[in-house]
Amino acid sequence: MEIEDPMTTTATPTTSITGGIWLLEETASGSVFTPERLTDEHRLIDQTAEEFVTKEVVPNHDQLETKDWDLARRLVGRAGELGLMGTDVPEVYGGVELDKASSVVVGCRIGQSGSFGSTFGSHTGLAIMPLCCFGTEAQKKQYLGKLVSGEWIGAYCLSESGAGSDALGAKARATRQDDGSFVLSGEKMWITNGGFADLYVVFAKVDGEQFTAFLVERSYPGVSTGNEEHKMGLHGSSTTPVILQDVRVPAENVLGEIGRGHKVAFNTLNYGRFKLAVAASGGATIAIGEAARYAAERNQFGRPIASFGAIKYKLGEMAVRAYAVESMIFRTTGLLDTALAGHDPADAGPLRDILEELAVECAILKVAGSEMINYVLDENVQIHGGNGFVKDYPAERRYRDARVNRIFEGTNEINRLLIPGTLIRRALKGGLPLIAAAKQLQDEIMNPPALSEPSNEPLAEQLRAITAFKKTALMVLGLAMQRYGAQLSDEQEVLSWAADILIDTFAAESAVLRALQAATEAPNTAELQTDAACVYVNDAAARVESAARSALAAMAEGDTLRMNLAALRRLLKVTPVNTVVMRRRLADAVVDRAGYMLS
Ligand SMILES: Cc1cc2nc3c(=O)[nH]c(=O)nc-3n(C[C@H](O)[C@H](O)[C@H](O)COP(=O)(O)OP(=O)(O)OC[C@H]3O[C@@H](n4cnc5c(N)ncnc54)[C@H](O)[C@@H]3O)c2cc1C
Repeated sequence: MEIEDPMTTTATPTTSITGGIWLLEETASGSVFTPERLTDEHRLIDQTAEEFVTKEVVPNHDQLETKDWDLARRLVGRAGELGLMGTDVPEVYGGVELDKASSVVVGCRIGQSGSFGSTFGSHTGLAIMPLCCFGTEAQKKQYLGKLVSGEWIGAYCLSESGAGSDALGAKARATRQDDGSFVLSGEKMWITNGGFADLYVVFAKVDGEQFTAFLVERSYPGVSTGNEEHKMGLHGSSTTPVILQDVRVPAENVLGEIGRGHKVAFNTLNYGRFKLAVAASGGATIAIGEAARYAAERNQFGRPIASFGAIKYKLGEMAVRAYAVESMIFRTTGLLDTALAGHDPADAGPLRDILEELAVECAILKVAGSEMINYVLDENVQIHGGNGFVKDYPAERRYRDARVNRIFEGTNEINRLLIPGTLIRRALKGGLPLIAAAKQLQDEIMNPPALSEPSNEPLAEQLRAITAFKKTALMVLGLAMQRYGAQLSDEQEVLSWAADILIDTFAAESAVLRALQAATEAPNTAELQTDAACVYVNDAAARVESAARSALAAMAEGDTLRMNLAALRRLLKVTPVNTVVMRRRLADAVVDRAGYMLS
């Protein structure tokens, strides 16, 4: 089974950033973007978004869950009035043309709003973004203004009942007409905003073969929507089939090129995956606050449950995982903004290029963000005890709402396969010097260098551990390429273990680099940031070792396996730290602040 490579590009990339290069090079401390570097302007946008969510969206949660789509439309309109939907859109098309950090700040806040976050995310990330990236001048002028203001709502129609993960297996058909227009037929499934969107980005195959994106207005004859799905969560967001019965679509409504719809689909999903992690990060910080407040107020055995070690562990671990994801998000945001700096915002080329380039980072964030929020919300329910299981507290709804994050925007299984798969494909194409690095590592394993002296520099042990994680990833990838060759894509278990190592590596490094920078950028929270980074690295070491051992055991046996395991032991010497003390400090901080320690 071949997972489609979203990376194939014919254009010359305009970006100087190389996705995945962090695996092969050291990233200098001081060079990564962090939330601590947000400007006053970013904080103002944050404040606007926060007020909108807390005063206008959250009080309407219950009403939205009655499927009051007029209300959903009004809220989208309000977000439009406040300028929250145009951060990614050039001014010439009605947007506010801000950097990606602004878009992330907004996404974090809106992500705290459950169902509305889904409505907003699909509208901005899956309808506005593909138009920005692939629309013609005429299409942008016609549609973007209405979408950014919230006058129109957008939706993204890729999935079908028989084509979910295998999106390119879509059956929807676009038949070319003599006058150049197309007639679309087919049925799309699980479409967010389906029930009330005005504009659909629809994927169909021209003459049954060429996968292509189209802009389809709801008002076109033949467009209809099915009943609302009865979902586990996100009851306040519309999810319906979108049915196309001989819908005539003008030639000028082809989005991107005919036969290159996969470029539109995957590029959009890259940004969608990144923004899903952003929303998860926002959702986690709110839930950590809820859990901390509840734990401080709830007494059992004559004391607040927050005073028990088992609860401190949970609160501390929630903070650690949220910190790691947040650090990756802002590091990636910095890469996006660096790549886009100096380019004309109205030129979509650089944005398309950098989104392709950062496909691995976006997939990592999607998996890590969705699994982090699932962990945080599961523990939030647990800390609430019986009250976590009933609807009187938000914990129950949050838990149900978040589960789908591991399913949409590409399931976590598909994203895991994409992470090593994309790196390897790039290496084979010569875009990433991974093969040379794997060979060099093999030599190093045969002739190990003398152990370097322990260092007293801050987080030196953790940086050393991260170097070891990178080598472990290279060892597993290198051996897997040697062992399986062209058949490696069939070895999903090994690829998934490799993905887990890569995710932990990027997360650990992002957390440690940020914690190092905190000494100067955020002295008040620097110690807590160091705790979070140390705990993450400590536990990642055990996960990385376990994944690597399983992968090595799948690839060799007997003496070869013993030799590989001995090499792994030499590579991965990570001294454990006292995570009890560190998690307790983090837990106490979130309880003291009644919120995530960095909020
Ligand atoms: C609430 C909600 C909103 C949604 N919104 C939208 C939307 O706005 N637009 C849109 O187009 N779609 C949307 N979707 C659809 C969503 O993107 C798909 O559900 C998702 O892509 C998975 O497809 P599937 O459900 O067909 O699962 P399947 O593809 O059938 O997957 C089932 C399981 O098999 C695994 N699997 C499948 N193929 C492989 C493989 N090759 N290797 C290993 N494992 C594999 C999957 O990881 C999964 O665990 C939405 C879904 C939901 C639930």
